[in-house]
Amino acid sequence: MRKALIVVDVQNDFCEGGSLAVVGGAQVAIDVEALINSGTYGAVVATRDHHIDPGTHFSDNPDFVDSWPRHCVVGTDGEKFHAPLAAPMFDEIFFKGEYTAAYSGFEGKSSSGAPLVNWLRTWGIDAVDVCGIATDYCVRATALDAAAEGFAVTVLEDLTAAVSNDNLPKVRAEFDAAGVMTG
Ligand SMILES: [Zn+2]
Repeated sequence: MRKALIVVDVQNDFCEGGSLAVVGGAQVAIDVEALINSGTYGAVVATRDHHIDPGTHFSDNPDFVDSWPRHCVVGTDGEKFHAPLAAPMFDEIFFKGEYTAAYSGFEGKSSSGAPLVNWLRTWGIDAVDVCGIATDYCVRATALDAAAEGFAVTVLEDLTAAVSNDNLPKVRAEFDAAGVMTG
């Protein structure tokens, strides 16, 4: 199996100090950098929330389910990778959500317009490990889409952070049902 690491949305706005901070986000950035530097993966890609005007995804009175405070706006510091992660560490970056909510990295495209699934297939990838933020939203959606596309998927749960830990039992049941491993 040729395996890729997909690093989901480890961006400043989703880490401590950001506009939509997820507890543990900054630690995820540190731990993911160490994993990348271990050299385990033949390919390492990242996804980024990349909003211009995503409609009702943003709200001044967010419900934190379908609507959220403004975050990851193109051109802001909040949209950048959280240190120590940085763009040159990745073989490719997939941007999503310009004009609509986009939870899955499979909705993203590279700067040259390549969708994530095409890129993975071109690189001969058949298995993916998924980590990042948030476990119960964009990691969940990315992992489920990867399984639906036929990849062997493992979510590295220790390298994720959740908006709400109360969501995790339901998310783990969805992973089980889809054949997504956790480890
Ligand atoms: Zn968003």
